[in-house]
Amino acid sequence: MKTVEARAITKLFGNVHAVDGIDLTAEEGEFLVLLGPSGCGKTTLLRMIAGLEEPTSGDILIGGKVVTHLPPRARDIAMVFQSYALYPHLTVHKNIAFPLSARGMGHEAIKDKVTWAAGMFGIERLLDRKPRQLSGGERQRVALARALVREPAAFLLDEPLSNLDAKLRTSARLELQQFQRRIGTTTIYVTHDQIEAMGLGDRVAVLNAGKIRQIGTPEEIYAEPWDTFVATFIGAPPMNLVEHNGAVIGFRPEHLKPADGGPAAEGAIDVPVRVVRVEYLGSDELVYGVLEPPFPEENIVAKLAASDPFRTQQGERVRFAIKQRDVRRFDRATGLRADRAAQAS
Ligand code: ATP
Repeated sequence: MKTVEARAITKLFGNVHAVDGIDLTAEEGEFLVLLGPSGCGKTTLLRMIAGLEEPTSGDILIGGKVVTHLPPRARDIAMVFQSYALYPHLTVHKNIAFPLSARGMGHEAIKDKVTWAAGMFGIERLLDRKPRQLSGGERQRVALARALVREPAAFLLDEPLSNLDAKLRTSARLELQQFQRRIGTTTIYVTHDQIEAMGLGDRVAVLNAGKIRQIGTPEEIYAEPWDTFVATFIGAPPMNLVEHNGAVIGFRPEHLKPADGGPAAEGAIDVPVRVVRVEYLGSDELVYGVLEPPFPEENIVAKLAASDPFRTQQGERVRFAIKQRDVRRFDRATGLRADRAAQAS
């Protein structure tokens, strides 16, 4: 178990700042997720940590030791990619054993190690099969077992679940988390899927355009976004952002509650809305609407529990209320949280 650290790391491709001065530390045993939209620099950052890409500037440290100019094999890390890259002509046993044979480990020791790693992932019965005889989820477990036998200081995982169907992803996610807890190896995991990030990460680093916009626990990222990018990238549907009294205010769809017709309760903001569309989602109902004065005419969405007796339909005028404590304020010019914008200036 070691820390993995990026210090002021930058990667330029021509004049594109793929990674733009990132400082980041994965603590010992931590499951750290890098989350961001396509092209934000996640993979490039991971590849620089792995040693597959040379940084333009900055350093990578593993266990406190600078490894910036060491080749991948000297870094004591294991990387699992989206494509798993299993050898099709080798059995599962030989695939898992491969990194050990390459190191010249003895036959018996290899056998013990492979049995141990296969046991970790419950794939003992698959050891004699070839990769084409496995399901996507089983292949993923083989790739992880192959990474595990090396007992690396850190795992680097690049969208390892993205080839799996939705149902399998859920079980594979659970399995991956349990495995990481058991083994306790520092893990950095790249994804563009916020559900995966929120479900897996001890902490999540949200990236955009080569920079970290926020790093924190899933709860912090959701409840206290540092800027409007994070506020709208996390959450489905995302946080509503509305211009109000010279600032931008944000509120989550589930924090809009139907007002009971009387004046807004103390400490609550009254939000009049014209309903445009209602979407029934089983456990929830999404109410899409347009704000009415005193707010500017902007689209918003409210998320109501299906168990809420309140019902509305297209064309109706309704009133919602939001508690002051559920409102976040952002600087209109920078998009930063108002308190952070004040600190920055
Ligand atoms: P995705 O989720 O789509 O994989 P990502 O967040 O992992 O995206 P990167 O693959 O790190 O993003 O790419 C970051 C930026 O750097 C993009 O603008 C990409 O086009 C550019 N880029 C990546 N690799 C190269 C390369 N070898 N040459 C030139 N530009 C590159």
